[in-house]
Amino acid sequence: MLHAEGPLLTLDLNDRTATRTNIDDILEEFIGGRSVATALAHDRIPFDADPFGPENRAYLSIGPFQSSTTSFTGRMSMTSLSPLTDGLVSTNAGGYLSREFAGAGISTLEVTGASDELLIAHVTDEGVEFEEVPDLEGAKVPEVSEYVEETRGLGPENCITIGPAGENLVRFACVMTYDSRAFGRGGLGAVLGSKNLKAVTFEGDSHPEIEIPDPPEMDIHREAATSDDLFRRQGTTSGTEFINENFALPTRYFEEYHFEHAASIGGDAVEEKKYKKEACSQCAYACKLPTRDEESGVETEGPEFETVYSYGSLQGVDNIVDVMRGNELCDVLGLDTISAGVTVAAYLASEDELGNAELAHEMTEKIAHRDGIGDDLAEGVHRVHDQLDVGDYTVKGMAFAAHDGRVIHGQGLSYAVSNRGGDHMYSQIHGEEYDGVIDHEGTLGKSELLVEKENRCAIRDSAIVCAFADDYVTNDRLATLLDTSYDELLEIGAKTIERERHFNNRRGKDVDDDTLPYEIPDLEEAVQEYYEERGLREDGTIPSDRIETVAADLGGSSGAVSADD
Ligand code: SF4
Repeated sequence: MLHAEGPLLTLDLNDRTATRTNIDDILEEFIGGRSVATALAHDRIPFDADPFGPENRAYLSIGPFQSSTTSFTGRMSMTSLSPLTDGLVSTNAGGYLSREFAGAGISTLEVTGASDELLIAHVTDEGVEFEEVPDLEGAKVPEVSEYVEETRGLGPENCITIGPAGENLVRFACVMTYDSRAFGRGGLGAVLGSKNLKAVTFEGDSHPEIEIPDPPEMDIHREAATSDDLFRRQGTTSGTEFINENFALPTRYFEEYHFEHAASIGGDAVEEKKYKKEACSQCAYACKLPTRDEESGVETEGPEFETVYSYGSLQGVDNIVDVMRGNELCDVLGLDTISAGVTVAAYLASEDELGNAELAHEMTEKIAHRDGIGDDLAEGVHRVHDQLDVGDYTVKGMAFAAHDGRVIHGQGLSYAVSNRGGDHMYSQIHGEEYDGVIDHEGTLGKSELLVEKENRCAIRDSAIVCAFADDYVTNDRLATLLDTSYDELLEIGAKTIERERHFNNRRGKDVDDDTLPYEIPDLEEAVQEYYEERGLREDGTIPSDRIETVAADLGGSSGAVSADD
C-alpha cells in the first residue's frame, strides 16, 4: 500500500529542540495525514491534557500524493486536542504548503511544549531554526507573510501562521497558510497561540520519490483540466440557490430556513466579483475564488458557501461585498469563518441587529482582540449563548455548518455522532441527501451509509485528496492510486474514527454528547443504530482493549491507554 514517506519532526518549544523520529511502521499502517496524526495524538497527548497547556500537541501531516503532480492533492491535514470541542479535531487546508512541507523531507510535524517568547520556527531539510519575533506580537496574517518574505525570501505558501485571534486564544481561531487558506475548524490557531508559536516556515528539495500509479493519475488530471461544470467556476457557492430553494439555508440565526436574498450572495454574485482563476498546488481543476470589489477596495479569496451562510443568510446580510468583507477580516485576523460568523450572528440576534453588516464586522475585530464583549464571544456560541439569551446551535461546542440537519435528517444524525461535532466534512452524507440518493427525511436505516461515508472521509484526509474530487478520484481510483483494496481503506478509516472516539471517551464524552439542540425524527434510536454499526457500547464508548497503542514509546510524554476500561 502506498503511504507517506519521511520521519516525524518534533519541535519541543520548552527547550527549543527539534528531533526526527522514524515512524515508518505507523505510516505503513495508517497511510499518512489525518490517520497518522490521529494515531500519534491518541497515544501522545495525555487524556487529561489542557488544550492550552504545554502538554497538548499539534500535528501537521501529509500523505503519499503531496510530492506528486496529481490533481486534487495540494492539501494538508492538521490535528490536535481542540479548545472548542475538548476532543480530538482534524482539519484540512489547501494552498501550496504541502509541496514545501514535503520538500523539508518529513511526513509529519509535531509541536509540543510552550515558549516564553513569541517564535517562528524555520524548518528546512537541513535543520530547524527558532527565531524570536517579539515585534510580530498582534500581527495580522499578511504582516507575518511580509516579514517572512523580507527576512527569508519565502512566500506565504511556505508558511503556517496565526493572527491576533490565535495569540489571544480565541477558541475558534484558525491556522492560515498562503494568507487565504485556513485549517479552519476547532480552534487549532489558539493551540499554536498557547504555545507562543506565531508561524512555521518550510522549505527544501528533499521530496520523497513516490511512484503514483498511472492510470489513473493522468486520467484524473486530464478530466480536471477539461471539466466545464459550474462548480469549477463558482466553487462551493454554486449550490447556494439550489439548497435554498429545495432544502434549507439557515437564516437570521436559525429562525428561518430560507433566505429571500440568496441570489444576491450566491454563486452568480460571487462569480461576478471573481477576477482571476486560482487553484491549490498541482490542481488543474482550479475551483478557488479570488474576488475583488473595485468600489470599496475589498479583496479576498472566497467567500466559500459556508461563509455565504455564516456572514450572509445567518446574519441577515444580503450584500455580497459585506460577505466578502467578513471573509477578508477572518482571514487576516485568523478566525474560522463558520464559527466566527455563527457567533457574530448570535450576538446580532441578541441585540436585535440582524442585517447590520457594519456591526458584524466590528464584532469580528473585537472577538479577535478579545475587546469588550468580544472577550465573551471569543469563547464561542456554546459557552456564551446563555449570556446572550439565544439558542445553542452547536454540537460538542462546534457551531453548525450550513447544511441544515433540521431538514436533511441524515446530516443531522451525522452532526450528532461526529467526533468533531457540528461539522459537515466529517461524513458529507448531505451530498447523498441533496442528490436524492437517499431520502432526506428520517434518520433510521442510514447508519450503514453514514459509517462508510465517515470512514471514506477519514481516508480522503489521510491520503490526502480534496473533498471536491469525488467525481474524479472515485473509490476504485483511490484504491488503485493507493495500491490496495477499497475495503482495506475503509478499515483504516474505521480505526481512525475509533481512536478519535476513544480519546474523547477518556475525556468524558459519551452518548449524552451525541445529541442535537433540536428535535429530528427517531434520533435516539438512530444513534443506537450507529453505535451497533460501529461496534460501540450503548453508552457511546469503545472498549479500550480495541485500541492498540502504536506511538506511545516514541519518546516524550504520552497519554497511553490504561488497562482499567
Ligand atoms: S478542487 Fe479546488 S479546493 Fe480542491 S484541490 Fe483543486 S483547487 Fe483546491
